[in-house]
Amino acid sequence: MTWDADRLAADLLGAVDRGEIVAHYQPQIELSSGDIVAAEALCRWNHPELGMVPPDTFIPIAENNGAIDGIGAFMAETACDWLGTHTMREQPIEISVNVSAIQLAEPDFYEKLATTIDASGVDPNLLTIEITESLRFDTEAVSKRLSYLLSIGVGVSIDDFGTGYASVDQLLDLPATELKIDQSLVQDTSPASSVLMTAVVSLVHRRGARVIAEGVETDEQLARVREAGFDRAQGYLFAAPMPAGEFEQLLASQRESA
Ligand code: C2E
Ligand code: CA
Ligand code: CA
Repeated sequence: MTWDADRLAADLLGAVDRGEIVAHYQPQIELSSGDIVAAEALCRWNHPELGMVPPDTFIPIAENNGAIDGIGAFMAETACDWLGTHTMREQPIEISVNVSAIQLAEPDFYEKLATTIDASGVDPNLLTIEITESLRFDTEAVSKRLSYLLSIGVGVSIDDFGTGYASVDQLLDLPATELKIDQSLVQDTSPASSVLMTAVVSLVHRRGARVIAEGVETDEQLARVREAGFDRAQGYLFAAPMPAGEFEQLLASQRESA
């Protein structure tokens, strides 16, 4: 049996309802303390015959056939559920969810997200949406709607910075609370990339947002992002994305050693 895109597309339409989509969590570390302060929720498709299908395979298909709306809504609800069961802790953990350009282009996405957060009763300040830098921002319309989310406390992170076409100027016009530097820049050991990262960090700090490095795999890369002044880091050096249960165990061991 071959698994072509048509077959995957058909299966994907009912995947959320069948409970096949799950969220994994990858810790984000505050560099000043070394503590886990947040996590990125990343979706996985547990296909009954194929096993785990990675998001790079199925998200583009979901964006094409409309399944992305259901998957995006599920991820936002799952993140809010997670926050709802963990708000009792003294040091609340923040969660980021990825939002596709297709979702951002839908005017009712924003209201729906606000309703999901409201219904869950969680503090909107604990939730961040990650939007990709490579999408071509319809700046006026998208900015206005993102400003609405910011006004209710939701964080906005610009993902994959360094891979797209947005200039730093354009980025600074866009309402955001965080800039996420792509692993291609973080893993580039040239002096030029260090200079660029340091300059970007200082610009972003000047407008009151934070900077996070993704794809940190080695101590050398960690040292370079520290030196450049990053606030947070994420990557295999700390931990790969993991199921919710494992993430909770990791947080529990962090609390015990505190
Ligand atoms: P992304 O948002 O840039 O997510 C980071 C990806 O890098 C994740 O791959 C993560 O597992 C991987 N990664 C983390 N640390 C390291 C590291 O140290 N080294 C390397 N080489 N990779 C690392 P993943 O989970 O396979 O996700 C791939 C992409 O799929 C994501 O890229 C994102 O664009 C998309 N995606 C994932 N979940 C969702 C979702 O719920 N909604 C939407 N719209 N897109 C999603
Ligand atoms: Ca992301
Ligand atoms: Ca990214």
